[in-house]
Amino acid sequence: MPNPSPLPEPLLSHTQNPRVTVRRAGSPLKGGKCIVYWMQRAQRSLDNPALDLTIALGNELNLPVIVVLSIIANYPNANLRHYAFLSQGLADIESDLAERNVTFIVRRPPDNQLEKFLQEVDAALLIGDENHCREPERWRKVLARRLKLPFLTVDADVVVPSSLFHKHFYALHIFKPRLFAHVPTYLVKQPNLKATHSWRTPKNFLRYDLQGDITEGWTNFDRSIQPVDTFTGGTHAALSRLKHFVSRLLHAYPENRNHPEHDGTSCLSPYLHFGNISPITIALAAQDAVKQGKASAAACDIFLGELIGWRELSVNFVKFVPDYDSLDCAPDWAAKTLREHARDARPTLYTLKEMEEGRTHDDLWNAAQLQMVHYGWMHNRMRMYWAKKILEWSPSPHLAYQHAVLLNDRYELDGRDPNGYSGIAWSIAGVHDRPWFDRPIFGTIRYMSGASTGKKFNSRHYIENVAAGRWRGDVE
Ligand SMILES: Cc1cc2nc3c(=O)[nH]c(=O)nc-3n(C[C@H](O)[C@H](O)[C@H](O)COP(=O)(O)OP(=O)(O)OC[C@H]3O[C@@H](n4cnc5c(N)ncnc54)[C@H](O)[C@@H]3O)c2cc1C
Repeated sequence: MPNPSPLPEPLLSHTQNPRVTVRRAGSPLKGGKCIVYWMQRAQRSLDNPALDLTIALGNELNLPVIVVLSIIANYPNANLRHYAFLSQGLADIESDLAERNVTFIVRRPPDNQLEKFLQEVDAALLIGDENHCREPERWRKVLARRLKLPFLTVDADVVVPSSLFHKHFYALHIFKPRLFAHVPTYLVKQPNLKATHSWRTPKNFLRYDLQGDITEGWTNFDRSIQPVDTFTGGTHAALSRLKHFVSRLLHAYPENRNHPEHDGTSCLSPYLHFGNISPITIALAAQDAVKQGKASAAACDIFLGELIGWRELSVNFVKFVPDYDSLDCAPDWAAKTLREHARDARPTLYTLKEMEEGRTHDDLWNAAQLQMVHYGWMHNRMRMYWAKKILEWSPSPHLAYQHAVLLNDRYELDGRDPNGYSGIAWSIAGVHDRPWFDRPIFGTIRYMSGASTGKKFNSRHYIENVAAGRWRGDVE
């Protein structure tokens, strides 16, 4: 097929923004009646650069804007728990979009074909967001080849556009100065534009009723993992949690984030994963808390080091390392040392089922596993320990990696995310780390012992909290 003609003004000027990728060039379709934002990764209205671009173009072209969320029944490794959280967020998207004069349409199988939808509404142009994981990126590529209208995507869920980096950075201390050099440019208030033209929904237009069960009638769908009541999905719940965090917890974050027995971290990872909140909203709120004297600049810097530094290094990792979810992502030194120790005796071995049910000899590890199973989230400190023990207790590093990804993706609300893949890669495959002392099974992969991990915080209290159900992620 010949290349479509290059983008005309006013589209061209928007593509100078490194957040924007032109997936398919060309002029907006003649006679098109609206602009569509296909919302996939960034499930929110607030501080959403993909939505802002759609509205800006709609206003310039005198066209209304429709946001469509096309639900699929077979999202890789997603189950009832994840879809329940996603569903809870839909009403917030609808009401927040209405305030911006934008229509929200949710479609579910068998009526969720995006190309058909674009024809139904006579779209002139399509905007999407970015998701650098393998499958969602493949969908965007396939779609771009099939579409007949221009298609742009916007990197809406990072502070610094990932297109500014052209390779994988193997350590945070190398990536961070380059990344943070761009933060002042991109960590800015978002315009949150309002559409000047509204779309008149045709009578009997097909749309999913947000009160319904989004998974109704799905066969071959994993319902075995139950929803949790420790987090409520959606932007409004995310903003309540953010307020609680910046006003009450941020000041003590540098110390309390190392204490899984306390409520000391933001607990925003499920909201970030589903795009219910932008990292820009969170980072600006943390900086505001410093201006208001609620937290020190040092505490804020440490928090932004996680939120922007580690998180965007994870995005960089999945974007450039194709095997991000298997042991094949290990750097040479780590692959070599794990190979050399592959035949080491493994005095303790557990099956996947024993681990999944939290039936090991290690009470601290079991508590971490059960926190994830029952609450849909695990504390960062425990996640590192949890993954390293899976390496120690599995017949091979390959199987350990596979089981860690499987359990993480199945139970964590924030699973199936670049952070999860890079966290497991760090713990088991030495990614973004360096060689340590040589020891059995691990070789020079950094080791964490139960005795020393458990002494750094009140592990008894943590174990009791998990067992007694004394844990919540959101604020009631
Ligand atoms: C083995 C392992 C598995 C992990 N699995 C996931 C996962 O599936 N999904 C996920 O979002 N995170 C994962 N992480 C990273 C981290 O543990 C969680 O992001 C964090 O615990 C979430 O809690 P919080 O929101 O309270 O974090 P906070 O301490 O409040 O940090 C704020 C945000 O910064 C980001 N962040 C914090 N720590 C890290 C980190 N080490 N790497 C990357 N980003 C970070 C997260 O987006 C987090 O929400 C994993 C880490 C490890 C070691």
